[in-house]
Amino acid sequence: MNDLLTFLAGSPSRFHAVANLSRRLTEAGYIRLSESRTWELAPGGKYFVTRNGSALLAFRVPRRDFTGFMLSASHSDHPSFHVKENAELPGVEGYVRLNTERYGGQLLSTWADRPLTVAGRALVRAGDAIETRLVYIDRDLLLIPNVASHMNRAANDGFKYDPKCDTLPLLGIGEAKGTFRALVAQAAGCEAGDILGTDLYLCLRQKPVQWGAENEFISAAALDDLQCAYGCFEGFLAAADSDSVPVYVLLDNEEVHSLTKQGADGTFLRDLVDRVCAALGRDRATAVANSFLVSADNAHAVHPNHPEYADPTHRPVMNGGVVIKHGVRYATDGVAQAVFISLCEKAGVPVQYFANRSDLPGGGTLGLISSSHVSLNTVDVGLAQLAMHSCFETAGARDTDYLIAAMRAFYSSSFREENGVFLLA
Ligand code: ZN
Repeated sequence: MNDLLTFLAGSPSRFHAVANLSRRLTEAGYIRLSESRTWELAPGGKYFVTRNGSALLAFRVPRRDFTGFMLSASHSDHPSFHVKENAELPGVEGYVRLNTERYGGQLLSTWADRPLTVAGRALVRAGDAIETRLVYIDRDLLLIPNVASHMNRAANDGFKYDPKCDTLPLLGIGEAKGTFRALVAQAAGCEAGDILGTDLYLCLRQKPVQWGAENEFISAAALDDLQCAYGCFEGFLAAADSDSVPVYVLLDNEEVHSLTKQGADGTFLRDLVDRVCAALGRDRATAVANSFLVSADNAHAVHPNHPEYADPTHRPVMNGGVVIKHGVRYATDGVAQAVFISLCEKAGVPVQYFANRSDLPGGGTLGLISSSHVSLNTVDVGLAQLAMHSCFETAGARDTDYLIAAMRAFYSSSFREENGVFLLA
C-alpha cells in the first residue's frame, strides 16, 4: 500500500507518472522501443514504448507462437486546471493570478484554500533540437482563495463557480511580472528564454494519506485513475509467462474525451497490435479474436451521507474487492463478466457490481472507445472510491492488493474463443 502512496506522491502529473513507470520497467529489464524506428522483437523479450510522454504500452513476447493479447487499460490524466500560455494575470491592488482553464469535470469547490503548485512538462531549446523536461515546482506556490462567508452569503447554498474568475489561483502581489516563467525555467533547468512550449497543470501540495479508525482508507489526488494504473502495472510485472502477449496500457486524455493521439480514440493501441503481429509474423485477426481487455477505471462507492445516489441493487463498498461495471456506457457484457469472475475466483479476489442509478448517466470509460479501434472482448472494472473528481479523492486501503492479485492472474492466462465457448487457461 505504501508503494501506491509513494507512486502517487511522485506522480503530480501524467508526465511524471509515465516517467516513473518507465523507470520501473527499465530497472526490471524492459527495453525501451521508439515508435519512429522499426521494431525487432526477440522471443522472451520485454519491451515498452511511450507516446507524447503521457501514454505508455509495455509488453512481453512469449518464447513460442502466441494465442492472443491479454491487455489492461487505464488512464494517466486526472481533472485539474490547465495553465494558459500567457499565464500571469494582473488584477486589482497589484494581485497577480495565474490564468487557467478547466481540464476535465472536476468538483470545483474542492480546489479552494489549499496550497497548490504546478506540474507537467516544458519543451526547451537545446541547440537545433527541442528537449522535453519534466516540471514540478516543489514548493507551496499558489492558492485559490474562497470569498468569506460574510461576503458571499450564497457560499453554503449551492454557489455556482465561474472558472474564469472564482477558480483562478493567486501567485503574488506587487512585482510578479515574469516571475512564473522564471520559476518554471528554474524547475526545468533552463533559461526562461529557452522555453518554447509548456503543458502545465495545477496540482495539490497535500501528500497522499492513509487514515480511518483502522487505517482502512487512503486519500490522494488522482486516485481516479492512478490507483488502477498502479494495480494493473504491479499485476503485469508479477505475472507468470503464458501463451499470450501480456500488454500493459496507460492512455492519456480520458477526462477530455480521449480524442488525442495519446488517448483511447487515437491509434496507439492499434499500432502496437499491428506492429507486434507484423514483427512476429502472426495473423492479426486470429490473434485479436483470442484477446481480452480489462478496462480498469475507478468506480463509485456508496456514499456514507448520500446512499440515495447508488443504484438499489448495485452498491459497491470500499475494501469490498474489484468492481465490475455494467450498463450501456460500459463495454462489459455477459461473456466478459463470466470470464473475469472465473479469473477472480481462481485468484481468490472478491468481486462486486456497479450500475448507474437508472436516472443518472454516469461517466464513460476507455473500454468502449478503444473497441472502435481494436475490437476486443472487454470488461470494465474499477476500484470503489468516494468523491471522484475532487482534488483529493478517497478509496479503500485494501482494494489495490485485490486488483494486483486479479491482474496477476489475468496476465498469467490466455484466452480462447470458439463459437460461443470460452476458455481462460
Ligand atoms: Zn477515470
